[in-house]
Amino acid sequence: MANRAVSSSQPVQLPVPIAALGEGPHWDVASSALYWVDVPAGRVHRLADDGGHVSWDAGQPVGAVVPRASGGLVLAARDGFLAMDTGTGAVTPLAPVEADRPGNRMNDGSCDRAGRFYAGTMAADESPGAGSLYRLDPDLRLTRLFDGVGISNGIGWSPDETRMYYVDSLAYQVDVMDYDPATGEIGRRRCLATLGNGEVVPDGLTVDAEGCIWVAIWGGGAVQRYRPDGRLKQIIELPAAHVTSCAFGGKDLDVLYISTAAGHGAAAGALFACRPGVTGQECHPFRG
Ligand code: CA
Repeated sequence: MANRAVSSSQPVQLPVPIAALGEGPHWDVASSALYWVDVPAGRVHRLADDGGHVSWDAGQPVGAVVPRASGGLVLAARDGFLAMDTGTGAVTPLAPVEADRPGNRMNDGSCDRAGRFYAGTMAADESPGAGSLYRLDPDLRLTRLFDGVGISNGIGWSPDETRMYYVDSLAYQVDVMDYDPATGEIGRRRCLATLGNGEVVPDGLTVDAEGCIWVAIWGGGAVQRYRPDGRLKQIIELPAAHVTSCAFGGKDLDVLYISTAAGHGAAAGALFACRPGVTGQECHPFRG
């Protein structure tokens, strides 16, 4: 499949549909497949390791997708957390989010090792401070962790899960919080790195096996790799300005998948892959 054509840190475009706003790549170890979404299209995509591509219609804008350990998928979508049956495509609510804020939708999200699904919200018109970050526990209990978020974006953990990384794009920074993997409790939030300005903002992120943080730069046509102390270590450039998120996948977790959105660039909206020379951590399913 396309993976075999991915031999260097130079990103190659994968043979999948161009997205209006491609987001949230997630490698499912159990099925050797990559999942991602096209947000405004409400489309959920799957690319198997053998090259087979399939997609589903969520019926509403969808910000993130993760596999569900008990079967099917879980989406962070306009109306909240939804379950999707991949056999029928049927979508059912798991936990409504911000039904009192019809201008908001859910955006980026990710699961910790225990299978807790963290995802945040944003105003469709990008009103500052209108969003929040939520956690959906495996028992389907919903918790709002904090509010005052502009555009809730990348979420990831250090390899020992004692640190959680978080991006509010409108704050132009990657934050770090203490994290208790036993309880899911988050501690003090502080800035790890400040980046971007104007229309250039940090977007999605992933954390590799060495604990470095790969941040997609919306408007900047790049993914930037930061050390855990916040120093910039490496940059991967893409032929698309609006780089939205990234995740490691492949059999050896050595392929970095990178999503982009329409706009500037020769391959805007394409999905890319490269082998940057380091391995990632496993993406985790929702364990509810
Ligand atoms: Ca995003």
